[in-house]
Amino acid sequence: MTDCIFCKIIKGELPSERVYEDKDCVAFLTIGPVNKGHTLVVPRKHVVNLFDMDDALVKKLFIVVKKLIHPVTNAFNADGANVSINNNEASGQIVMHAHVHIIPRYKSDRLSAWPHQTYADGEMKECGGRIRKRLAT
Ligand code: AMP
Ligand code: ZN
Repeated sequence: MTDCIFCKIIKGELPSERVYEDKDCVAFLTIGPVNKGHTLVVPRKHVVNLFDMDDALVKKLFIVVKKLIHPVTNAFNADGANVSINNNEASGQIVMHAHVHIIPRYKSDRLSAWPHQTYADGEMKECGGRIRKRLAT
């Protein structure tokens, strides 16, 4: 992808603070960290997001996430980490080259959690059924 910012970073055409690379994946610091050390793990292959990824690539990407989660949290004395992928614009995805966020988190960082809804009577079962039905087809 010629106009993809992460493809350019992977090829070295744009600068990045790279912390890890192997033949399939690259990891570098985001320029807009939620907390210091916030790292992005990206596949070298241009795929848009998880909707677009084959199982083999998912496995490779998450093995790298697992490899990095201790170094990233320990390097910043974090108490935990969020590991997340935004999939499509509606979820907050801005860069359309798949990337896993590893965000160091602190008990004290007071970042707001997502709001929680509740289910009406019977609605949870109906929602579960919708997903099971799609899985079965
Ligand atoms: P998302 O909203 O999931 O698409 O996240 C995009 C991430 O890419 C954000 O953390 C941005 O700060 C980060 N980002 C955008 N441009 C660059 C860049 N040139 N180098 C490093 N990170 C970047
Ligand atoms: Zn790309």
